[in-house]
Amino acid sequence: MEATEKDILRGGQFLVKETKCEDVFTPEDFSEEQKMMKEAVMEFNEREIIAHKARFEAKDYALTEEVMRKAGELGFLGVAVPEAYGGLDMGFVSTLLVCDYISSGTGSFSTAFGAHTGIGTMPITLYGTEEQKQKYVPKLATGEWFGAYCLTEPGAGSDANSGKTTAELSADGKSYKINGQKMWISNAGFCRLMIVFARIENDKNITGFIVEYDKTNPNGITLGEEEHKLGIRASSTRQVFFNDTVVPVENMLAGRGEGFKIAMNALNVGRIKLAGACLDSQRRILTTAVQYANERKQFNTPIADFGAIKYKLAEMAASAYAGESATYRAAKNIEDRIALRQAAGNSHQEAELKGVEEYAIECSILKVAVSEDVQNCADEGIQIFGGMGFSEETPMEAAWRDARIARIYEGTNEINRMLSVGMLVKKAMKGHVDLLGPAQAVQDELMGIPSFDTPDYSELFAEEKEMVAKLKKLFLMVAGAAVQKFGPELDGHQQLLIAASDILIEIYMAESAILRAEKNAKRFGEDAQVVQIAMAKLYLYNAVSIVEKNGKESIISFAEGDEQRMLLMGLKRFVKYTNYPDIVDLRLAIAEKVKAENKYCF
Ligand SMILES: Cc1cc2nc3c(=O)[nH]c(=O)nc-3n(C[C@H](O)[C@H](O)[C@H](O)COP(=O)(O)OP(=O)(O)OC[C@H]3O[C@@H](n4cnc5c(N)ncnc54)[C@H](O)[C@@H]3O)c2cc1C
Repeated sequence: MEATEKDILRGGQFLVKETKCEDVFTPEDFSEEQKMMKEAVMEFNEREIIAHKARFEAKDYALTEEVMRKAGELGFLGVAVPEAYGGLDMGFVSTLLVCDYISSGTGSFSTAFGAHTGIGTMPITLYGTEEQKQKYVPKLATGEWFGAYCLTEPGAGSDANSGKTTAELSADGKSYKINGQKMWISNAGFCRLMIVFARIENDKNITGFIVEYDKTNPNGITLGEEEHKLGIRASSTRQVFFNDTVVPVENMLAGRGEGFKIAMNALNVGRIKLAGACLDSQRRILTTAVQYANERKQFNTPIADFGAIKYKLAEMAASAYAGESATYRAAKNIEDRIALRQAAGNSHQEAELKGVEEYAIECSILKVAVSEDVQNCADEGIQIFGGMGFSEETPMEAAWRDARIARIYEGTNEINRMLSVGMLVKKAMKGHVDLLGPAQAVQDELMGIPSFDTPDYSELFAEEKEMVAKLKKLFLMVAGAAVQKFGPELDGHQQLLIAASDILIEIYMAESAILRAEKNAKRFGEDAQVVQIAMAKLYLYNAVSIVEKNGKESIISFAEGDEQRMLLMGLKRFVKYTNYPDIVDLRLAIAEKVKAENKYCF
């Protein structure tokens, strides 16, 4: 059934509206076509990437390029690209699915894939003119050419709009001359096209250009040596120098001064794709860890039988489950929003741009949450392997190193945390999400007398869903009080913003896990979902602790006296379970299942 405007939450609205489990998309909803795509990608990953893991670790950059070319031949580079430009136009969920299942073999390939299909191609599909799209996108979609994205400079990282690279119009008005230095450019060593951001005269904002790079006729472009990195060792990362590089005026992307907007919107897409790209790594790390734990014996016992190891297996599984739930939920929201806009007469380009922009908050949340989950998972994976985890001979060491970059690129996690809250406040001010009304209602509730009725929690997840609703109230209470206190100065209180974003992140992730497990319990039966239900409950329990800690620190930092006492009482009320889940039992149930299946099996 086609989604209608009223069915789909707007970006950020999850915080103030209740979502029904029937309205979320879950990985169990993949169509037959998507399942076939998943199988094909998994098979490719095993054959072309995992089988050659050692070569990637030995910095075989040529292999990364070769496998990228093969991915292009199979159509994997063009999943998101419209058919008119040589792609498969499979929709946003399928795009995510490919990013997900192609990325777990090595971070080297996954970075090359992400940089090419995301930030290397999307700026043209989203902002290019018809001529630019016809000329370049088919080459990129098939892997005939590879793309790179040149935004970062030695002096301009998180402050991306501060770059010093210049673009100067020629006297005849036919071309620009680009001069400057970019650094940390993924795919630089084998790309044929670069999206380059440069400043024209003293413009406030940078401008985007499509720059061809032909090594036989380099047009003033030179590359630095390959960077020697902690992880993603076979991903080509170089500095790029532009020395009077001539670019025809028709290669400007969108308009003059539009570059910062292009850069940010390309990153929105990149962020959710990066979350997707961390998911199969998490699954694979858990599978590798449980297989080892089942085999490795100490004290005449497989280490998987020790409670300490079961704890880790259960936590790893629950975070992977939540990551999948939230990523595919948001991906489908984006896909539906794009379809709605197209139905309303928007071009594919406009629809996609606005569709993704709408969910920029969720994209930032996912980027932060999943990149940190995969890192924690890899860390625990090393621990389960003990000394062997520290050895290059086992896969955990590389997984841990590769995971590390996800917290840095596509906007650091600090920047994304602050962006998520900042964008939410902006949406509220524009009237797109009504935060004021619900925040006022929470204040009124706090002034009133709490209900002493015994709630009916007989239905599955009744208490958990109420808890999620309370966490939302807690966010509104803390954020509302902080906005009242600091007004526009809130931007300067970064610790508060980060605490607020941690609350936001946990709400979205926990709610997504619960809705997925509830939806599946309704259609497949509760008995078939016992472990999934346990994972959702475990995730929520952990989320409540994180929310409580961040809420408390925030309140203490800005409120005093009676106000502080009232807010702390509210906090206590909003994080209180009536019936605490037996977390130890939940972990045991999850770990037993993972142990028995010898893999991540959800
Ligand atoms: C392997 C790799 C591949 C990359 N690929 C690409 C690519 O293909 N194209 C490209 O353009 N770039 C690429 N990058 C660059 C990447 O996007 C940047 O490294 C990233 O944006 C951070 O910028 P920076 O390194 O200058 O760190 P900085 O911006 O100097 O940040 C340093 C620290 O300060 C924090 N910080 C910065 N500003 C603030 C603030 N306002 N408030 C609070 N904290 C702040 C950051 O969160 C971080 O913890 C890549 C980087 C790496 C390492």
